[in-house]
Amino acid sequence: MTWIRQLQTLLCSLLLLFAPEVFGRTNARRTANEASLYSDADNVIMLDIGSLRPVLNLHTNKLVQFLNTFCGDCQRFAPVYKGLARDLYKWRRLLRFYAVDCAQERNAELCRVFSVRQTPSLRFFGPDTEKMQKFLGSVIPTQDPKFITAVLADLLGQYEYAADVANFRHLTPNDTAETVFRDHQKLDSPVKYIALVLQPKKAYIGRDTLLDLLPFKEVAVRIVPDAQIFANFGLVPTSESLAIIDRGGNAQYLEPASNTSQDYANTVGDFLKKLNFKPDPPLPIVVATNDNEFLDQRNKAVLAEVLKPPLKIYRADLEQAIDKILHNELHKYFFFQGGNDLALHNVMKALMYLNPLNKDGRELVSRVYRSTQRRLDKGSEFKQLIESEEKNLKVFKAKRYIGCIGTRPLLRSFTCSLWTLFHHWTVEAAKKPQQFQPGNILNTIHGFVRYFFGCSDCSKHFQEMANRRNMSQVKTSDEEILWLWEAHNEVNQRIAGDPITEDPQFPKIQFPSKENCPHCRNNNSEWRKDEVLKYLKHLYDIKNVSFYGLPTSQGYD
Ligand SMILES: Cc1cc2nc3c(=O)[nH]c(=O)nc-3n(C[C@H](O)[C@H](O)[C@H](O)COP(=O)(O)OP(=O)(O)OC[C@H]3O[C@@H](n4cnc5c(N)ncnc54)[C@H](O)[C@@H]3O)c2cc1C
Repeated sequence: MTWIRQLQTLLCSLLLLFAPEVFGRTNARRTANEASLYSDADNVIMLDIGSLRPVLNLHTNKLVQFLNTFCGDCQRFAPVYKGLARDLYKWRRLLRFYAVDCAQERNAELCRVFSVRQTPSLRFFGPDTEKMQKFLGSVIPTQDPKFITAVLADLLGQYEYAADVANFRHLTPNDTAETVFRDHQKLDSPVKYIALVLQPKKAYIGRDTLLDLLPFKEVAVRIVPDAQIFANFGLVPTSESLAIIDRGGNAQYLEPASNTSQDYANTVGDFLKKLNFKPDPPLPIVVATNDNEFLDQRNKAVLAEVLKPPLKIYRADLEQAIDKILHNELHKYFFFQGGNDLALHNVMKALMYLNPLNKDGRELVSRVYRSTQRRLDKGSEFKQLIESEEKNLKVFKAKRYIGCIGTRPLLRSFTCSLWTLFHHWTVEAAKKPQQFQPGNILNTIHGFVRYFFGCSDCSKHFQEMANRRNMSQVKTSDEEILWLWEAHNEVNQRIAGDPITEDPQFPKIQFPSKENCPHCRNNNSEWRKDEVLKYLKHLYDIKNVSFYGLPTSQGYD
């Protein structure tokens, strides 16, 4: 098939390091209530740095989705992946579904090693992966479930399996009832019948019938490339294309309603059901848990506080954004080269001079900034640097998002905190004495979003918007603040009302609302940019950022 050639096989010359880490930071560990896009009930098992390698060594096929829970595209793809895993549950003798969340700090290294540059990223691993320690999987470059199914069917058909599991090899002119049952001679073999499917050249009906009949362990399907082979089984070759033989060598043609694998499988299935053989049951449907119970008492109190007007910005959110940037996003690359090195340096410089963290946080950033001014080649070096410099410092105290709290799992949080940090940077950079040339902060944001932001879709849109909205033409710091405000509003407009990513308690609006800034619009509801600028400068100013949600009001000294 032509599309199979499009599969990009990633073979990497890098040594995989899979020893589970000893985690020092609480944020790195898996928590019992960690929000996840999938569960075992979806036929999707979540893996992490400790469990991926053993799974890849299993002698079966594996489809692994690398994702970032905070990325809207991954959230939108989740129902598709769940649907696929449910539909293809019938193939579970041959294929298992998995997912790895690269947004979890403990998996950052894993995702770096697997060169996960885009999410969601589907990687296929065949049953022989344990021999190929450096194999990073075959990328399935689509999110279309039909296309994915077709690619998977093709890939599954390329491997050899134990005889009772599946056999995609075509029959030869020498095969007879005796030779085909020879594979199923073990006493515990469940196979009682063999279905013979005539498969014309360049067709896949035999392969697809085999896959459709996997839930019936009593039947093995064999592909017949030439109708004359039916004669070896005592059948007269005619226009018939589906036959079944029992262990006694008795053969008969079956008559499917049409020449589709579905009808072939139904016909064989009906034959077996009449003999009281039942297929394995489909994946049970589990009633979804009630998301209303997602918010605990503490978070309910936070929500009530945050919804009280006027709108405020919270240090806890700025801290969470920086925490994730330092511990997760910035060391995703194997090597710093070709642009991401400069982007890294710029982010560290912005953090250095526009740092909303506490004293220890400023110390940490300044040490790391000094080191990044020297040459830093690898993501792993950056990770080690952060870990060693952070020892004995008490930097990150925020335990939860505050202004960026979501009322359902996976909503808001990191992406919200990132916007908050970006707006805060543009406002702080406009203050005197100016540490940055006008436009530098936008450039830094652009570099981060381009190279490090784990939301591929967001990154693509942002880069396109930067070109279209002439980001590089920004001449003053005030223009810089307003450029980001308008760009953010464009994103708000594009994704407003999205049932998957929008939090109903925080609908996407053209910001700021009339309630929060009555003067920001004129009587014709047009923006008064001077007022918007004044409002943004007030809202995002470090002096007005709330301590609410941090352990004590002295959380930052
Ligand atoms: C750079 C970037 C690009 C993104 N692109 C996409 C995308 O293409 N597709 C997608 O699905 N998701 C995208 N996202 C995520 C998305 O924008 C939201 O962050 C996410 O849906 C969470 O929304 P939220 O309700 O928390 O508000 P957010 O949009 O995250 O905003 C956070 C807070 O900022 C304030 N705010 C809102 N608008 C403005 C404004 N114009 N100016 C100043 N402050 C404002 C509000 O207080 C709001 O609560 C992107 C995120 C980032 C950081």
